[in-house]
Amino acid sequence: MSIPSNIALLRSKIPENVKLVCVSKFHASEEIMEAYNAGERIFGESKVQELCSKFDNLPKDIQWHFIGHLQTNKIKFIVPFVTLIHGVDSLKLLKEIDKAAAKPGKTVNCLLQIHIAKEDTKFGFSEDELTGVLESGEIATFQNINICGLMGMATFTSNQNQVRKEFKQLKTFFDKIKSTYFADNNHFNELSMGMSDDFELAIEEGSTMARIGTAIFGLRNYT
Ligand SMILES: *Cc1c(COP(=O)(O)O)cnc(C)c1O
Repeated sequence: MSIPSNIALLRSKIPENVKLVCVSKFHASEEIMEAYNAGERIFGESKVQELCSKFDNLPKDIQWHFIGHLQTNKIKFIVPFVTLIHGVDSLKLLKEIDKAAAKPGKTVNCLLQIHIAKEDTKFGFSEDELTGVLESGEIATFQNINICGLMGMATFTSNQNQVRKEFKQLKTFFDKIKSTYFADNNHFNELSMGMSDDFELAIEEGSTMARIGTAIFGLRNYT
């Protein structure tokens, strides 16, 4: 299958109100351009250096999303151009993003990552942790951050019921957080969940953003 035909197939399965983030990490700029020429404009990367060099080399109307684990000392490199940071998983990181964004006078869009999987390898706030942070009121003091919603990754398992349960749980939490803490906030609208293997379930359960790599670009070569 070619990149354009993979995209056409995905587009036929993804409703128009759900954004497709083409996860291009570990893939070459030429491959990104194939997706770009097929009409895609949102691309997701997980390494700061790789993201910055692709930003330099590729069309400027691409919206770059950072989907990896962000180290505080690298925030400043992506702040000038990043459209959305998906995986913010600590108050400390939020503080640092706010500080780095204040310098050039930017406002950075962020999603808070929630730990929903039954694995301890995945990052994220627990529901209780995030509720505590929101209760403290501290997030509201960050002038240079827009909290645009939540992000989560399901357990890596073939058990569809398990995956569906986790997405359902995240959607329930999203609705609760939105109505309790972000009712007057017109940014808090995105629920980023679903990857190549589980995006259809995620969309059924209320995802507004699917992050899809392998089903577009094929397997990644990590060497
Ligand atoms: C790599 C990655 C994806 C894409 O995964 P695929 O299975 O290739 O679709 C999505 N989200 C995050 C956070 C990732 O790191």
